Amino acid sequence: MSLADRVRGPVLAPADPDYDAERTGFQAAYQHRPALIVGATGPADVRSAVEYAAGRGLPVAVQATGHGLAVAADGGVLVNTARMSGVRVDPVARTAWVQAGVRWERVIHEAAGYGLAPLSGSAPDVGVVGYTLGGGLGLLSREYGYTADHVRAVEIVTADGRERRVDAECDPDLFWALRGAGANFGVVTALEIDLVPVSTLYGGGLYFAGELVPDVLAAWSEWTATVPDELTSGVGLVPYPDLPMVPEPLRGRYVAHVRIAYTGAVQDGERLVAPLRALGPRLIDTLGEMPYTESGSITADPTMPHGYYGTNAMLSELPSSLATSVLELTGPDAPVPCVVQLNHLGGALSRRPSVPSAIAHRDASYLLRALTVVDGPGPSEARSAPGRLADAVAPWTLGRSPNFVLGESSTVEQVRTCYHPDDYARLAALKATYDGANLFRLNQNIPPSAN
Ligand SMILES: Cc1cc2nc3c(=O)[nH]c(=O)nc-3n(C[C@H](O)[C@H](O)[C@H](O)COP(=O)(O)OP(=O)(O)OC[C@H]3O[C@@H](n4cnc5c(N)ncnc54)[C@H](O)[C@@H]3O)c2cc1C
Repeated sequence: MSLADRVRGPVLAPADPDYDAERTGFQAAYQHRPALIVGATGPADVRSAVEYAAGRGLPVAVQATGHGLAVAADGGVLVNTARMSGVRVDPVARTAWVQAGVRWERVIHEAAGYGLAPLSGSAPDVGVVGYTLGGGLGLLSREYGYTADHVRAVEIVTADGRERRVDAECDPDLFWALRGAGANFGVVTALEIDLVPVSTLYGGGLYFAGELVPDVLAAWSEWTATVPDELTSGVGLVPYPDLPMVPEPLRGRYVAHVRIAYTGAVQDGERLVAPLRALGPRLIDTLGEMPYTESGSITADPTMPHGYYGTNAMLSELPSSLATSVLELTGPDAPVPCVVQLNHLGGALSRRPSVPSAIAHRDASYLLRALTVVDGPGPSEARSAPGRLADAVAPWTLGRSPNFVLGESSTVEQVRTCYHPDDYARLAALKATYDGANLFRLNQNIPPSAN
């Protein structure tokens, strides 16, 4: 029986007219070019695809939305999970069962009906499963911790073609590994995740003119030491293009954008942000009460597919030289436009969850990300700017976060820095147990250990 006969969804080869649409995702610079694509409709299709690939020694790539493509498939089998769109909310248990193709916006919508919210991130169009397998740093992270620490169960097809439901009791080692290094161990078909009782937020953004970048970074850095865990914040340093879709006050300007999500009372939120507002005039000030369903407006990430490359660093502290480094290397006069983002960590992110996971660097105080627009894989001048900023903060860098390891930076050595050395050895040993042939290597890969 051919693979197409065993799979309910489409099975596409490069000559098929729908091949390009099926392989294309949000990331435009790195694109999968597999020998076959399986448009999976459920776990049975995933199992058939994995068995087919394993039988022929072909690598398996997985794509839900294409936001996090780390290593593009060149040959092999791509499992596109976008059709796996089931969501079930249990308002009593405060959980959601979410299939592999679902984006956060769907879970946010379904949970909101019960006054609940998922631990989603800045962009509602990111996929739930890819985001969570790499840790998941969300808008409410300082209060609740990493999204991966709020996974109750993982449904997965492993390299041996077995469908498993893995949780803290059943296969605890694999459960530990899946939450932080998950893509290495199979194709996840669904997750059961916690929901939290949040329906509204005090949040939004303060947009300051680029001249204030040193003041904003210095003030935000001091201020983060004073805020409660219920307040999660970040800063984006963004060169806005001079385009009609950009709000007029930001058009063509280099901007410092402070992003806030606070689950306490509105009056307390107003009081907490007063020192930031006092920094100077805002180009735009969107802070106020909002339903969680509008939380995507806080960071206002781009929604149009484009090519991008970037790197990240988990920092012990913000160096006093940061503003100078950012402006010199990635500022408004940089040879290529760069976006730098800082996230305040700590709070629940620094606490170990009751069921341990593979997530590392819980002692980091900030995450720095540097991104630039690129039009394809391979070397280009653009790639060096984020790397130079990462070099400048190296003395304060504890390691990397897997969710933001992209493209050429997705080397074995870089991925190793995402984990504590002991955990990395344990992950490599588990990889040898569950995927000794490294079928699942088109990701932030951890090669199986030799013994
Ligand atoms: C605009 C933007 C905003 C972001 N915001 C945040 C944020 O706030 N917090 C955060 O933590 N991250 C954030 N990210 C990073 C994001 O979480 C990762 O890129 C994540 O991998 C995206 O998952 P995806 O399914 O959307 O993308 P895809 O490219 O479809 O998948 C990414 C990778 O995840 C793995 N994967 C996906 N589905 C499965 C599956 N079913 N089984 C096994 N492996 C799978 C595969 O390795 C795949 O290559 C953001 C990324 C972008 C582009």
